[in-house]
Amino acid sequence: MSFQVLGLDDRILKAIRDAGYTEPTPIQSAAVPQIIAGHDVIGIAQTGTGKTAAFTLPVLTKLCAKAPDASRRRTRVLIVAPTRELVVQIEENVCAYAKHLPALRIAKVFGGVGERPQMDALRAGADIVIATPGRLLDLMGRGCADFSALEVLILDEADRMLDMGFVPDIRRIVKALPKQRQTLLFSATLSNEIEGLTREFLHTPKKVEIGRRSNPAETVTQMIYEVRKEDKVSLLAHLLRDSSMDMVLVFTRTKHGADKVAKRLARDGVTSAALHANRSQNQRLKALADFKSGKVRVLVATDIASRGIDVDGISHVVNFDFPPHVEDYVHRIGRTGRANAVGDAISFVSRDDYGALRSLEKFIGRGIVRKSADGFVPDPAGPDDERPVRPQQRQQRGQGQQTSGGQQQRGQGSRGGQSQRPTNRSAGPPPRPQQSASSVTPARPQEEEPQGWRRPTQGRRQRRR
Ligand code: AMP
Repeated sequence: MSFQVLGLDDRILKAIRDAGYTEPTPIQSAAVPQIIAGHDVIGIAQTGTGKTAAFTLPVLTKLCAKAPDASRRRTRVLIVAPTRELVVQIEENVCAYAKHLPALRIAKVFGGVGERPQMDALRAGADIVIATPGRLLDLMGRGCADFSALEVLILDEADRMLDMGFVPDIRRIVKALPKQRQTLLFSATLSNEIEGLTREFLHTPKKVEIGRRSNPAETVTQMIYEVRKEDKVSLLAHLLRDSSMDMVLVFTRTKHGADKVAKRLARDGVTSAALHANRSQNQRLKALADFKSGKVRVLVATDIASRGIDVDGISHVVNFDFPPHVEDYVHRIGRTGRANAVGDAISFVSRDDYGALRSLEKFIGRGIVRKSADGFVPDPAGPDDERPVRPQQRQQRGQGQQTSGGQQQRGQGSRGGQSQRPTNRSAGPPPRPQQSASSVTPARPQEEEPQGWRRPTQGRRQRRR
């Protein structure tokens, strides 16, 4: 299918050509005609499927089909998204696709920065408002926004907004909007709660569903390195000697862990930046910009980055800390292999992660290839892990006698642990998927402040196999 048949404005088609897109993605082919026809739409698609353009392109077409209200330029489109980075990325998408249209006024509204410029932007009148729920509600309460002429409401990453507890805020926002409007809801998953939201906010919606959440992109090659916790940083540094790892997104569980890994890599001469909720908005934007531009090779992030990150050309995602939940794994590795490019997803798995790995392999219905790192010798300087390992334990491990927790015996000579299998399978790494696998999902670790971002960028490269 070509973009021409979707009914988009010619100037938008030109911007699409400028972006280098040759054909619509499946979610775009399915959603764009429905949105142009004026239907409410539920779009179920993972990030990386082109879903931002799937709602932006038809909405811009509708906007430019009708002249704006000359006197006040009241807001015609409201896009609500869970995080400030996502707001910024959506705005960048809108600007890219609207570049040949008469200038649109766009107001971005999100917390963590001064209110005044956002209030001024809303009061001056914005055709499109892109906002996180909390700050938007604040500014609406102060009478800054005029949604009396609103035509389209878009709820992006609705599942994430639900997870983050934004539903009451969204309810209050929607209550203040005209009933006569078009509503689009996008979500990576369709749970009962999301269906409840669609019943509440949408009117006889058309559902477009692309891809199952349990299928990480086909273009991503997944692999596991079994490694002791205390050797993970050394293993990462070792793997990074491979120059094909030229744009690497590393996920850690904690903010402190992200800082530690970034610092250690810097010590090894690897350019890297940390990105997490303790960093200021400017620091985060800079880290992301440096990563996109190639100034830093490795971005070490907490799960704040796993949603909506839209940086093309990421060669490798490394799960430095294995995610305890399948959804997090799928979202994380979806940051590579985007838009038909290929990428590798590397996961470090330590003893504590075996339950989560079993669950993941059961969920995706197949085993993930185990790799061993050629020539890897763990750092003799000692553990880099946050949990200290007593000398006695270290010695025992070196002799294949690891007994921590009294549960596990490792194979002899398992330094680095990448290719050894324990003799006691039930306590060790998960079996291959055709064997029975018990599923144990550990409790969710303390949540980082969730954030996300996206943007259509020309990647450093389009890797193809
Ligand atoms: P999204 O799912 O919205 O996060 O988009 C993922 C990536 O796909 C972004 O970098 C977009 O710029 C890119 N993209 C969107 N639509 C297309 C298309 N039709 N062809 C190629 N790339 C696209």
